Amino acid sequence: MNPSPINSRIDSTFLKSAPSLKQCPPPETSEVAFAGRSNAGKSSVLNQITGNKSLAKVSKTPGRTQMINFFETNIGGRLVDLPGYGYAKSSKSSQAQWQRAVNEYLSFRENLQGLILVMDIRHPNQDYDLEILTWAKQSNLAVHILLNKSDKLSNNKKLDVLYKTRDKYSDYQNTSIQTFSALKGQGKEELIKTVTQWLQNI
Ligand code: GDP
Repeated sequence: MNPSPINSRIDSTFLKSAPSLKQCPPPETSEVAFAGRSNAGKSSVLNQITGNKSLAKVSKTPGRTQMINFFETNIGGRLVDLPGYGYAKSSKSSQAQWQRAVNEYLSFRENLQGLILVMDIRHPNQDYDLEILTWAKQSNLAVHILLNKSDKLSNNKKLDVLYKTRDKYSDYQNTSIQTFSALKGQGKEELIKTVTQWLQNI
């Protein structure tokens, strides 16, 4: 059977929020997770690929920022918005809760196919990113790095960061990298293709 053609967006609707792995919905369908430091643009990336300007707002409503948020897609499988990290205000205990929830989800979620790690292209490879990558690699999870906000840099500078980041992670198996602009839609096709292939397990 031929794989279905790649859509120009992945329609998605909110399913539920879970504070920990235990409360996640049954692992009966593929999932692709999105992680990123606060302000890297994770919500904008989700809004861009789902074509829904307010989708990820759900994850930013009070009480949900520390939760794992699930969205059902129309192509089968789910998009999963992992809680962001790096809000200056968050207390030590809520940071510890974040760490536990995200680490457990990345380590033990059996239906997780891959992780999209959103970085700000002007500030890539922060401690947070390396921590997440280490967890993902410990579970042999495929990772696709998005160097977001590419519209903020010249073409030369953009490529420079892309090549340097590729070099940095050249020892990591199953890791791909692209530049992206949630604002302009640059790189959208490549991202949707990766997410679709993971969700449909091809
Ligand atoms: P989150 O905290 O990671 O979910 O980040 P948001 O999606 O809320 O984005 C944080 C800020 O960065 C907002 O002001 C966005 O408008 C802006 N932003 C996100 N993506 C881009 C992008 O690709 N280009 C530019 N110029 N700004 C962006």
